[in-house]
Amino acid sequence: MPEINGARLIADLRRLAEFGKYKTGVHRPTYTTEDMAARRWLMDRMAEAGLEPAIDGIGTVLGRTKSRGPRLLLGSHVETQPYSGWLDGAMGVLYGLEIARAFAADKTTAGLGIEVGAWADEEGHYLSLLGSRSFCGEVTEQQLDATRNAQTGKSLREALAEAGLAGKPRERLDPKRYVGYLEAHVEQGDTLDSGGLKLGIVTGIVGIQTYTLTFHGQQNHAGTTRMAVRKDAGVALVKFSNMIEERFPKVVGPRSVWTTGRITLDPGAPSVIPGKAEMLFQFRDVEPERLMLLERTLEQMVAEANARGPCRVELKLVSRTAPHAMDKGFQDALEAAAERHAPKLHTRLPSAAGHDAQTFARHIPAGMLFVPSIAGVSHHYSEDTSEDDIVLGCQAFADAAAAILKKAA
Ligand SMILES: [Zn+2]
Repeated sequence: MPEINGARLIADLRRLAEFGKYKTGVHRPTYTTEDMAARRWLMDRMAEAGLEPAIDGIGTVLGRTKSRGPRLLLGSHVETQPYSGWLDGAMGVLYGLEIARAFAADKTTAGLGIEVGAWADEEGHYLSLLGSRSFCGEVTEQQLDATRNAQTGKSLREALAEAGLAGKPRERLDPKRYVGYLEAHVEQGDTLDSGGLKLGIVTGIVGIQTYTLTFHGQQNHAGTTRMAVRKDAGVALVKFSNMIEERFPKVVGPRSVWTTGRITLDPGAPSVIPGKAEMLFQFRDVEPERLMLLERTLEQMVAEANARGPCRVELKLVSRTAPHAMDKGFQDALEAAAERHAPKLHTRLPSAAGHDAQTFARHIPAGMLFVPSIAGVSHHYSEDTSEDDIVLGCQAFADAAAAILKKAA
């Protein structure tokens, strides 16, 4: 089995974290000066590793192998959320780089192809999973024209031009080129850390459904309107929210999660009864049937609330992503490697966060491996994983990749 160099991997991770360093984390939004510098640094490391690096018209960095044998594509992303962690995305990309080096140095794997991708804007500063979706042929030029930065409003075209990427062609996936796609990532939850586990084999990536619930009441004077005749949209919203907390636990699966991310009262003044109230509501699960059941439950609650009055409730779907199962054979290979390197200290689990692997799962076999996030913290500069766990994860990931490629050869 190829042996990874743990010290070299950690040194590269620490170096990459210097681009946009913020406290103990990183602030490196897509296409910023720091982000583009990080991409160029990555291309230099790929070239040193014997890969042929390229950056495409959307900022994705791809390191191609010259090997003609069966190939695996490994990757993740290098941009970060604002003021966020040093491992989210970066670790998966640098695992790919380290494994490409380890494979090239080992006689038993030298003929096996490892290619590495850093998919642009997975974090969705402009469009979630932009790089992987573009690579898989799921994003049109018209969509690119219409896309703007969610925070600043800057157009994607303008950002690409500033980054020197305008007019460059976009790389496209050739499904026949690869045995499949593998991605390693920090868990970002606390299942592994709280369970004293070292590795997580991802069974699938959750589907996410987001809704707005709008409550229509009657705006009026907060002093002169008798309680009995009020149509208070704020009260209707709070009652509905309580009903969710009562009903959902009866229909959810063991890992379903649901969140009210925003509540607004209109007009939102101390002496005015809210005439309108709105909540942004989201749930996630890995099973399609469970998602359907949760949606039916929500619809039923809306019907009941409308029958009861006095406020009218409106339910609108904002977005829906389907859950994506990871390849069974890849799960088995990852689990066998996990058992070799961390006997009994691994588990299978769904990913509650979105990842580039969900895009690839629609086109080629895909698999994911998690390492523990200390205290389950992510999307914050304090995000961390012990160096021992990072190195262990990379060695197990390398073994799984070797097993998958040897089987294909
Ligand atoms: Zn990530």
